[in-house]
Amino acid sequence: MAMASFTLHRPQTLAEAVRLLEEHGAQAKLLAGGSDLVVNMRMRIETPAHVVDLSRLDELRAIEFDPARGLHIGALARLSEVAEHDIIRSRFPVIASAASQVAGPNIRNMGTVGGNLCLDTRCVYYNQSYFWRKANGFCLKKDGTVCHVAPGGRRCWAAYSGDLAPALLALDATIDIAGPRGERCVKLAEFFVNDGIKKYELAPDEIVCAVRVAPEFADWRGIYLKYRVRSSVDYPLAGVAVAARVNEDGRCEDVRMAITAVNPSPRLVAGVQGLVTGKPLSAEALEQVAELVRRTAKPLRTTVAASTSYRRHIIGVLAKRGLVEALKVRA
Ligand code: SF4
Repeated sequence: MAMASFTLHRPQTLAEAVRLLEEHGAQAKLLAGGSDLVVNMRMRIETPAHVVDLSRLDELRAIEFDPARGLHIGALARLSEVAEHDIIRSRFPVIASAASQVAGPNIRNMGTVGGNLCLDTRCVYYNQSYFWRKANGFCLKKDGTVCHVAPGGRRCWAAYSGDLAPALLALDATIDIAGPRGERCVKLAEFFVNDGIKKYELAPDEIVCAVRVAPEFADWRGIYLKYRVRSSVDYPLAGVAVAARVNEDGRCEDVRMAITAVNPSPRLVAGVQGLVTGKPLSAEALEQVAELVRRTAKPLRTTVAASTSYRRHIIGVLAKRGLVEALKVRA
């Protein structure tokens, strides 16, 4: 489908981009890699009057590590750069693992960290052409009044489908946000909203500028495991990130786990630490962790690619595999 017409803006600085957002507010959309926005504009899911292209803001592109200040990843860093970055691969492996599994190579070469974090939530009744959605009476998320997934409900259950967020949640990351009222830094766990329409605590005139991970999370082991139909390109239908601090004797001193694609927001899984830290990993503990993960996951019928019961089952399996891999004895 052809896009609706819009005005394209190409700011040279972050301050200029913020001014444009302040001026145009909800009428504007940010363009970074374009791998999500352009598709949505073609399907008339998004019809912004103004598009603010961030590609000239080199100030948002850096990836830096400082032993005292930790890891800084600019929001415009490409996913492929994150996946291949030497320090991220060696010292923050859960982030590299997640970035390396986003879509396929061409999308990773275009897609950005900020774009993946701010990915729109997905649903089989929403990610369709205008004509398809119109024929189906639209839905609560856009132009309609009914949720086809949970009829009678007043909220949207479209699934958050970013891969990076669970990895960053597992490392207790923060994000820098800029807007006309100044800059603010928030915990990533407080940024997401478990609602398929609202999605984030981000005003229409604000921009996500960077992600930060504190230095104490350097050298935590980690892995991201993802279930999808086509492993060469698809969004996750279930995803688990595990990060663990393991001492020289191979004993787990701390562990954090987060999941994606089975709720309207990525979620930290509470209670994993108490089952795993300070003791050898037992089959019983693995089953208990899987049960915690299955209880945290609330997949609904937002996709036809897998049943809700299978997604709930497989996310428990991925959690167990991820823990075993993160904690296994290294030579
Ligand atoms: Fe629409 Fe309901 Fe799907 Fe949300 S979960 S996109 S409201 S059908």
